[in-house]
Amino acid sequence: MNLFKNKRNYSRLFAPFVDKKELNALKGIINRQWLGLGPNVEILEREWENLFSNRTCIATNSGTAALHLSLLINNFNRGDKVLVPNLTFISSASAVLYCGLQPVLVDINPSTLSVSVDDLEEKFCSNKNIKAVVIVHYAGHPAPMEEIIPWAKERNIVVIEDCAHTTIVNYKGKLLGEWGDFGCFSFEEKKIMTAGDGGMIVSKDTNLKSRLKAFRWVGIDKDTWRASNQYIDKDSIDSMHWYYEINELGYKYNMNDLSASIALTQMSKLSDIKKRRREIVKTYMECLSKCKLLKPCIEYSNSYVYQIFAILSPKKDFSIRFFKQKGIATGCHYTPLSEQPLLHAADESEASYPHSENIYNQLITIPLHPLLSKKDMRYICNSIKELDYALSNTATCEAIPGELGDSAKP
Ligand SMILES: *Cc1c(COP(=O)(O)O)cnc(C)c1O
Repeated sequence: MNLFKNKRNYSRLFAPFVDKKELNALKGIINRQWLGLGPNVEILEREWENLFSNRTCIATNSGTAALHLSLLINNFNRGDKVLVPNLTFISSASAVLYCGLQPVLVDINPSTLSVSVDDLEEKFCSNKNIKAVVIVHYAGHPAPMEEIIPWAKERNIVVIEDCAHTTIVNYKGKLLGEWGDFGCFSFEEKKIMTAGDGGMIVSKDTNLKSRLKAFRWVGIDKDTWRASNQYIDKDSIDSMHWYYEINELGYKYNMNDLSASIALTQMSKLSDIKKRRREIVKTYMECLSKCKLLKPCIEYSNSYVYQIFAILSPKKDFSIRFFKQKGIATGCHYTPLSEQPLLHAADESEASYPHSENIYNQLITIPLHPLLSKKDMRYICNSIKELDYALSNTATCEAIPGELGDSAKP
């Protein structure tokens, strides 16, 4: 059964870029009959360590796990606080909650949609015990790390870069994920490169390697795949080959070799993946430059690589219904965390987040993935132009069938 066989590429917001190459890599793992945490995970980690300068890279089974462990390893006290941008996926905040820490939400900068440096300082001054900050490179657009790192150093705050929307990308001479104390990447299927599911911790403190490895492998600091050879190795007289110690409460957060083999294949295709995404973003930007009312949510730049393409519309619901009639997928990344009941209940500050709210009211994600063809892009861009025309002409706008006004809302 192929659920997506008869659908158009633009009926999906995101899609993985996988083919026979990944299938062959998986076949190799199946034939070898070692599927779990094994040598391929280590090969992936070495490849990542070779890309970054002086970093330890530990692969996990998700970006969320990478964020969780990057916070946990610091041994903060329960109740300590962590600054988190308001416009992000829930994992940026749930990782904080998993550690018994308290997220303090920070408004965004309307030009980058990443955290506002002014509001970081404001929230730092009005809270006690701020120990860390999670920085999200929203959509893949770099947050101003050259300002954030010195700011955080001065205040003795640990910087965790949530790199889930980006990949191996250079920003002002350093890779994203290399600026902070920790960089956390996601290889979830909707992200720029995938492992099905997976993540990577990039740690500045290379001494943390064995603790991080233990944390992601239920507390065991020994590689089972390596130890397994010793069961039958006649030359090794070590009868204690079976022994390991648990010193800390660990998690089942390891990547497995099936996922690692997909990730390794994706690494070999990364330049092609980046190229395709850049072409699509460029096409969208050209189209939007001709629009009167519709705008890109940020100044998308060809220097970076993006996971999300979003536009701003003065009539969000109308526009979403318009795209729906065209068969074009839309979404909204994200509802501000301050509006989520989970975090709303925990937020005693009654702070307001005017920029997040204002952007949220206009924000619409449209398709961005390497499967979009030139023909798909022509269709989406023509629809964008049609929508812009309809929006600039109120009479047409009211006449569009399916636009039923507020009564149509759930
Ligand atoms: C996807 C995502 C995550 C979580 O990654 P998973 O691999 O799905 O756990 C974290 N932060 C952001 C901003 C994300 O978009």
